[in-house]
Amino acid sequence: MQKERTYDEVTLITVDATMSAAIHGGRAKCLQRLVRLDMPVPRTVALSFGAVRRIAAGELPDLDTILRPFGPDPLVSVRPSSQDPDWGGPGAILNIGMCDSRHADMCATMGEAAATSLYLRFIQSYATEVARLEADSFELPDHPDRAALARALAAFEDEMDEPFPQDPARQLADVLKSMARAWEGTSARLLREAKGAPADAGLGLVVQAMALGVGQGECGSGVIQFIDAATGQRRITGRYLSQSQGRDALTAESGALYLTKDPRGPSLEEAHPDTFAKLVAFGDRSRERLREEMEIEFTVEDGRLKILDAVRVPRSNRAAVRIAVDLAADGVIPPEEAVMRIEPQALSELLHRQIDPGAPRDVITRGIAASPGAASGRIVFTATDAQAAAARGESCVLVRRETSPEDIRGMHAAAAVLTIRGGVTSHAAVIGRGLGLPCVVGASTLRIDRKRGCLIAPDGRRFAEGETLTVDGTTGDVIAGEPPMVEAALDGAFRQLLDWADGFRDIGVRANADTPADAQTARNFAAEGIGLCRTEHMFFEGERLSLMREMIFADAPDDRTAVLARLLPMQRGDFIELFKIMAGHPVCIRLFDPPLHEFLPSDKAGLRDLADILNLPLADVTARVEAMEEYNPMLGMRGVRLGVTVPEIYEMQARAIFEATIAASRKGAPVVPEIMIPLVSAMREVELVKNRIDAVAVNVHNETGAEFDYRLGVMVETPRAALRAGDIALHAAFLSFGTNDLTQMTYGLSRDDAGRFMSAYVSQGVYEEDPFHTLDLEGVGELLTIGAQRARSSCPEIMLSICGEHGGSRSAIAFSRARGLNYVSCSPFRVPVARLSAAQIALTDRNQLPGLAADRP
Ligand code: PEP
Ligand code: MG
Repeated sequence: MQKERTYDEVTLITVDATMSAAIHGGRAKCLQRLVRLDMPVPRTVALSFGAVRRIAAGELPDLDTILRPFGPDPLVSVRPSSQDPDWGGPGAILNIGMCDSRHADMCATMGEAAATSLYLRFIQSYATEVARLEADSFELPDHPDRAALARALAAFEDEMDEPFPQDPARQLADVLKSMARAWEGTSARLLREAKGAPADAGLGLVVQAMALGVGQGECGSGVIQFIDAATGQRRITGRYLSQSQGRDALTAESGALYLTKDPRGPSLEEAHPDTFAKLVAFGDRSRERLREEMEIEFTVEDGRLKILDAVRVPRSNRAAVRIAVDLAADGVIPPEEAVMRIEPQALSELLHRQIDPGAPRDVITRGIAASPGAASGRIVFTATDAQAAAARGESCVLVRRETSPEDIRGMHAAAAVLTIRGGVTSHAAVIGRGLGLPCVVGASTLRIDRKRGCLIAPDGRRFAEGETLTVDGTTGDVIAGEPPMVEAALDGAFRQLLDWADGFRDIGVRANADTPADAQTARNFAAEGIGLCRTEHMFFEGERLSLMREMIFADAPDDRTAVLARLLPMQRGDFIELFKIMAGHPVCIRLFDPPLHEFLPSDKAGLRDLADILNLPLADVTARVEAMEEYNPMLGMRGVRLGVTVPEIYEMQARAIFEATIAASRKGAPVVPEIMIPLVSAMREVELVKNRIDAVAVNVHNETGAEFDYRLGVMVETPRAALRAGDIALHAAFLSFGTNDLTQMTYGLSRDDAGRFMSAYVSQGVYEEDPFHTLDLEGVGELLTIGAQRARSSCPEIMLSICGEHGGSRSAIAFSRARGLNYVSCSPFRVPVARLSAAQIALTDRNQLPGLAADRP
């Protein structure tokens, strides 16, 4: 049996000390690694999480044990060491041990100015960080002389009613207590929890011998890193400042040296080439052995280099991808580790323009972040104005209460979309994600004043039509004006990482794509096909909309067929283009789904136009439109219900698909279209539609003599379809779970209206998350499980997939994979995120992770 390791609360860091990041924190463990790499690290003692917890509770460890390694006159620093360095911690305190007698000794050895400067620095940190006195009285003087020192000591005594502590052990005890308690404070706790730390995250502390950056000979301090933190490119950056401590060099107004030769000024490389060369060698060694890009803090003490600390370089998401790929390409880490190191969501930031993270933001309100990326433009309130702005070459932000299918052309023309109502699966959100268009929905604190043509912010500010607004669909921020942006970064590193990811994943990833532009985006992101083409979006284009309306108003089937015959070539053209772009990859075309009423105008002007086109009295048109209204259209005459009652529409679509198949297969890779029936709830619906579609296929074959194949499938998006999946599967080559409608119907929750109360529901814990955003594994998930099991037990070979908005999320991918689904389908811009998530899920499951995370600095 393996012996359990025991850890001391106070550990001198040596090559073979028993230490762990989970006990002593990341910084302490990293310092041990640097020691093992033979770097000149000053003597350091680590205090474990347990020790620090006890200190916060008032129980000090034996100070003698801590201070003994530092000799009779200790001079030390204390730094925090949390398990993950990103979780932060209290600031470092340097020069502990400075007191009157030490000052006198140091005046003799290093000169009065240097010794007094160190003492003053310590008094300042102790007074403000430990005794929590006002900073104003302890500002560092321009001339650190004896008079300034006397003033600082007197100010301390004045405030505290006791002289400045002279005993190094007492000083250290006070510093340790103050840092331990700061970690337990509520604001520190909230801050680290926001960065992902668990509620009981521990803090370790490291006590290190001071390597003084001030004194005789060449003394100073600096920070070096070997990559550009914004791009991840290999490039030495940092600064060095003579006669300084800590990170002074980075903030110095003057006097700091560049590290490499630099046209802007003198450099360490020129002034102290040996020191520079050693630093570069340490950088190479730490990259190779710590398997990370590190930022190294160093000191030069009378010409001798000391390495005080090293942390993972803080980096942008774009840099993180490049660093991981470069480390793997250089053989420092295996590709699977590079794939595991990148947070999939971080990729979505790379796919879109973003607001420069350093830029100030005048945020006027925050809504739901519905489609990532940011864009600025002039405010327009109608789709027509958006198109007019685009025609003038102007960038615009389309602001609507909510969008409807009629707004599609305006959305295409806009740089971003902002809606007052709606949630993550509302129309604006779905289309925005499909187009890669930044989109914020449900910004319910904004008001549109149509009469005055302005938008009113919650603080009362008015933004008139034509004024510039920025929409940040990554954060949900709505911002006044136009902050600077950074461009998308689909570089070689990005592609390489995803190529590796594809080699590890074992579930397919397709895209939801309705237009040739969507399809092209999907292919650019290496989607393996189209999992959902919502054909209704094809009918909102200019002439087609009029034809649709004529078709809806047709009194007899023959009239309807005549109008549909005019739509047929247009549909055929749409499909030929999609097939061409997808070049033999599967394309799943969903037959017409929405209620017909969505195609009819809702305002007076639109009704009048329609009366003109149809040559009918306005009263007749109005009465017909009103008669078609439904109380609950999403549960009304839509999807397969139209297919059964107005079969001509599906017949036209099937013919267009088959004719396009023949045409596209003649010129390119053979196409086997997948045809999907929406909103099914009963097997008989499938039988009826299937019979008609099969008949169309026979007719097309007889007319053309061409051979072609096709697959007919069913969208499972009603609870009944999931429960009856066993029967339904008997008539289907595939089933695809539409989790948007399935969520809507399982909860009895309108996907277009839930935004009104969703935040109250989530904040009060009724729902853990918005179920339209995060797949509800318990309820909707159970229906998926039942559906998949029943379908597979009656047809083991049936292809199963998921195509709702959840399709790209990690939890939905893991769930789908665990239930044996063949692929997920998501918005084109989520395809890269889904590919990476799927790879990480497979790798984690296969447990093929040689030495991951655990030994990362
Ligand atoms: C669904 O319901 O999950 C779906 C993909 O279809 P739509 O969003 O078009 O209703
Ligand atoms: Mg649906």
